[in-house]
Amino acid sequence: MNTNRKVVLVGAGFVGMSMAYSILNQGGVDELVLIDVVKDKAIGEEMDLSHCLPYAPQKMVIKAGDYSECKDASIVVITAGLSQKPGQSRLELAVANAKIVKEITENVKASGFEGIYIVASNPVDLMTYVVAQVSGAPKSKVFGSGTVLDTARLRYLIADYLGISSKNVHAYILGEHGDSSLVPWEHCYVGCKKMIDIMKDNNHPMDDLKKIHDGVWKAAYEIIEKKKATYYGIGMALTRLVKAVLNDENSILTISSYLDHEYGQNGIYIGVPAIINKDGVKELLELKLNKEDQDKFNHSCEIMKENIKNEIDPILK
Ligand code: NAD
Repeated sequence: MNTNRKVVLVGAGFVGMSMAYSILNQGGVDELVLIDVVKDKAIGEEMDLSHCLPYAPQKMVIKAGDYSECKDASIVVITAGLSQKPGQSRLELAVANAKIVKEITENVKASGFEGIYIVASNPVDLMTYVVAQVSGAPKSKVFGSGTVLDTARLRYLIADYLGISSKNVHAYILGEHGDSSLVPWEHCYVGCKKMIDIMKDNNHPMDDLKKIHDGVWKAAYEIIEKKKATYYGIGMALTRLVKAVLNDENSILTISSYLDHEYGQNGIYIGVPAIINKDGVKELLELKLNKEDQDKFNHSCEIMKENIKNEIDPILK
């Protein structure tokens, strides 16, 4: 792969620009190219963002561009497409966004891009499948933001519940970035202690675990109801993914990854813990799920398979 720190962002909307702003504040990227179907939007964002540079931690080239810019980029992040309206599920965006993401991927591929695709457009697990199919890139080089955001929401809520720093919460959301996600509570730790043991030892009702998970998957609906869109959380999550790649971190993050018989599933992209480095997905860190969690995970996978068969594959033919 290219070792330059050039990132191309396709989709200069709320999500894309939240990532751009967060990258600019954190540093670590030398060049950020903005592409949007509405060219003026990308140009306006280039101007506005460039005015941050005098106060940014490091210099960065920021420019609106076209797909030829992808050729020598290390990463292309796709955040283009329609977003949820109040009350709408992510899956309802599948057909419209698959067409958009297909066209974008064709353009990126035509540039000669050989780097890593990171997908955030929703429904992200299905859109990651679209990018993989259309690009024909190696499986390790295509992944979605999956449940990275949901995992952040979970950690925040657990930290808030226990009054402990979210940095000490090691908990993960698996499955669809959406309503069928699950928390494998047996694998959740706070510091070095199992969350389940903390609940028991402190006489916390076990029902509260369900309330915490409900708070995660319902968060997007609530935020969209109140302020029309969610973007800061995913912007920061995407920055985390970009840095894990550019810094060759080998960090464990719950991305939307291809399953090749892991968890007894294959042929789909879905949120699972994976090791991310400069080559993309180095390997999956497969958890041994108990029967209840495996059943929930299988249910989430079945939803993906059904949508691929009925909604996505017909568009890709
Ligand atoms: P937005 O409407 O603010 O931005 C979308 C941008 O995509 C617009 O600027 C639009 O012009 C552009 N666009 C549309 N078609 C395009 C094309 N063919 N080529 C290039 N650009 C194109 O929406 P948003 O709030 O930024 O959301 C973007 C996507 O991210 C949505 O699908 C949303 O559901 C998703 N999202 C994902 C997560 C996650 O966790 N994965 C979280 C929040 C939102």
